Amino acid sequence: MIRKLISRVFSGKKPTANRHEPAVIPVSSHGITRDRISSGSRRVCETLQSHGHKAYVVGGAVRDLLIGADPKDFDVATDATPEEVRRYFRRSRIIGRRFQIVHVMMGQETLEVTTFRGALGDDVKKDEHGRVLHDNVFGSQAEDAARRDFTANALYYDPATEAVLDYHHGVGDLKHKTLRMIGEPRARYREDPVRMLRAVRLAAKLGLIIDPEARKPIREMAELLENVPPARLFDEMLKLLTSGHSVKCLTQLRDEGLHHGLLPLLDVILEQPMGEKFVMLSLANTDERVRRGKGTSPGFLFATLLWHEVLAHWEKLKAKGEPKIAALYTAMDTVLDVQGEKLAITRRIAGDIKDIWALQPRFEQRAGKRPYALLEQPRFRAGYDFLVLRGQAGEIDSEIADWWTRFQNAEGDKRAEMLLPEQAGDKKRRRRRKKPANAGAANHTANE
Ligand code: ATP
Ligand code: MG
Repeated sequence: MIRKLISRVFSGKKPTANRHEPAVIPVSSHGITRDRISSGSRRVCETLQSHGHKAYVVGGAVRDLLIGADPKDFDVATDATPEEVRRYFRRSRIIGRRFQIVHVMMGQETLEVTTFRGALGDDVKKDEHGRVLHDNVFGSQAEDAARRDFTANALYYDPATEAVLDYHHGVGDLKHKTLRMIGEPRARYREDPVRMLRAVRLAAKLGLIIDPEARKPIREMAELLENVPPARLFDEMLKLLTSGHSVKCLTQLRDEGLHHGLLPLLDVILEQPMGEKFVMLSLANTDERVRRGKGTSPGFLFATLLWHEVLAHWEKLKAKGEPKIAALYTAMDTVLDVQGEKLAITRRIAGDIKDIWALQPRFEQRAGKRPYALLEQPRFRAGYDFLVLRGQAGEIDSEIADWWTRFQNAEGDKRAEMLLPEQAGDKKRRRRRKKPANAGAANHTANE
């Protein structure tokens, strides 16, 4: 019986079995032993099972283990209600607006524990485009599986038996490197347009091909993204940019016609050769950092994505005669306002973005005390990295960035020797100022 199931799973043919009965794939064929899952997720499953509940590691973690990738985090699905889960674990709390989930803390780990979701009823609340607004009914495991987006994401791993439960032929699809939607793709995109972005991100990240059935409707349905709450788009965009495969993701987003809805200015930017070069360089850098396990800063990322738009506005304002720094601040606000409508960039990140931009003109000043003051700026490092990128992209003469690289590393006297002679204008401007030299533009935004 089991052999028959396995051969069906690996044959690439769709199972004819009842969808309510999953294929049970034993460890002997998938090879994921229980030591491969995090100790926290294992303990959570064991505790829930000891109370008579079903409990599985589910979703991305199982998928990633099956294709030999490192899971980012381990999620657990169970038939216990959030209140029950909350009671079994002292260090846990119920969170979530759309759907209640429980965060369980185990040592350093935080596990997301979700109760099986039920099928969407006919009376489910939707917006006028068909997007599901509320879906907080619990259900059976089979219903939970059917509610997930892609077949590869509807896999349940039982640490007790080390078996994978596969309701929608996900293991076979993974073998064939296919990302296949569960159910009718158009209907699933209408319910939740973010699935289009997830398709692109997961395919790029995992090296999968989006099944043609799921890929085809994306272009014509792309505009549905406009109705998605900006905060959710921002979350997804951040996931995409920090996936370690952002260049591939963005290239594919563009190919699928999805970039318009995300960053309204992105299509403009990507069409300017200078802007595209800058953005791609920055993303390649970020991907490299993510893959080496280094942190990334969302502020830095968005600062690079939007910089050429700021430059364009800034140039226009300066041409109209607005003073240089005032014009930069106006341009920054204009660009962030336009983005804010589509993408809810959080206030904190918007602050980081502005800090980085506002530092840029200050790197031009290489005489007197100002370069020293700039080195002491808390955001110096981010501003400098940004400057280096501008140099690499050819937007500015890389001589400036090189100078700053040497200036930082030089010792006392050598550093002083590097300073450029004061220009007549510099002195005059400084004399008029009452504030000390380090009360510059970036401090101003940081204190806002
Ligand atoms: P990642 O590697 O980014 O964590 P993931 O697939 O685990 O990928 P999560 O956002 O962590 O993504 O979601 C966990 C699981 O929840 C998914 O594997 C999928 O089964 C389900 N899921 C998430 N988002 C959706 C959605 N929009 N529609 C249906 N199911 C979803
Ligand atoms: Mg996940």
